[in-house]
Amino acid sequence: MFAFGDQLGPAKVIHVYEPGLGLKGILVVDNVARGPSIGGLRMAPDVSAQECFRLARAMTLKNSAAGLAHGGGKSVLFGDPRMPVGNKQKLIRAFAHALRNEHDYIFGPDMGTDETCMAWVKDEIGRAVGLPADLGGIPLDEVGATGWGVYHAGIAALPHCGLRMEGARVAIQGFGAVGQHAARFFVQNGALLVATSDSRGTLVDPAGIDVAALMAEKAAGRSVCEHARGDKRAVDAIIDVECDIWIPAARPDVVREDNAHRLKTRLVLEGANIPFSVGAERMLHERGVCVVPDFIANAGGVICAAMEYRGATQAAAFDVIAERVTSNTAQTLAQAKAEGIVPRDAALRLAAQRVQHAMSTRRFSIF
Ligand code: NAD
Repeated sequence: MFAFGDQLGPAKVIHVYEPGLGLKGILVVDNVARGPSIGGLRMAPDVSAQECFRLARAMTLKNSAAGLAHGGGKSVLFGDPRMPVGNKQKLIRAFAHALRNEHDYIFGPDMGTDETCMAWVKDEIGRAVGLPADLGGIPLDEVGATGWGVYHAGIAALPHCGLRMEGARVAIQGFGAVGQHAARFFVQNGALLVATSDSRGTLVDPAGIDVAALMAEKAAGRSVCEHARGDKRAVDAIIDVECDIWIPAARPDVVREDNAHRLKTRLVLEGANIPFSVGAERMLHERGVCVVPDFIANAGGVICAAMEYRGATQAAAFDVIAERVTSNTAQTLAQAKAEGIVPRDAALRLAAQRVQHAMSTRRFSIF
């Protein structure tokens, strides 16, 4: 009990149990000094209170770093997300109903849940983001909200690395929702996509890859390795490609102390969540490579969700993503430079300061 408590939270940990349905779930509301918490509902057989707390804390810092008037929370449901849809609906509706009075928490999608699940939650209690378009949702993967933010992190970071957009060579690990749209925005604005990869291999073409054609091929179910032009290499070969901007947009833990030396780039924009180990970021910093950390560079998705909650249009959400990610990247890199610290430490400090400032204005600090 209270094992997770520190200066920032968590404000509440709620266990929800209904043996009649086999329902076991946990909600952690970490800190709501900045406003009601937003965080995803994760469904998996092996979730835990510890995992839920760590994810809720990550959301406190991510929402604060993004400058949102929202705190951090997270919820988990024990179960196989591929169970029959009727059973899944019953569990999710019951879980949401049990939490109907927890107005400090707004549900969002996460691993094992999607926009349909959020529609059930919205129907049950009226509070959810990541909704289907028919219910006022902004389909953030389709429109490329996170890729749009990654692109703006790039615009803000390029001058710090003595680079220009025109002709900048971009390599993207993972040509999925985040990677494809990031590629599209960079190439539309004068950069070259010189390499990209998916779970089957790497495509390299120093002359520049045709992003629209490759997106159409992916939509038709083909791998980047089946593209007509360019060299085809192993999955891992994306790490060795010489470029100016390297964007991880696939899996966690892809660059670590043992392989960070292989990167040949000046700038890294972390599109994926925790793609680099802390040690790898430190090694790259010492080599003069600028690494914009995940919760600054990939905040486009969460900003889009917060805008959706306010009933904003996609265009308005994109304007806010551009403004916030640009200014947060610039502030993070300026602070890191002034103090000679890695950008992640500067960003964490910025996020914690914003939470603490909000806490100082409240009667009770964290809730
Ligand atoms: P996605 O499933 O649409 O795309 C992932 C891509 O990575 C796929 O093309 C897949 O083939 C490829 N891939 C898988 N394993 C790979 C490997 N070992 N090497 C190279 N490529 C590999 O997922 P996404 O929504 O684009 O998310 C990508 C990452 O970004 C995840 O870490 C996710 O948590 C993070 N993220 C996503 C969003 C969002 O808005 N979608 C927001 C913030 C962070």
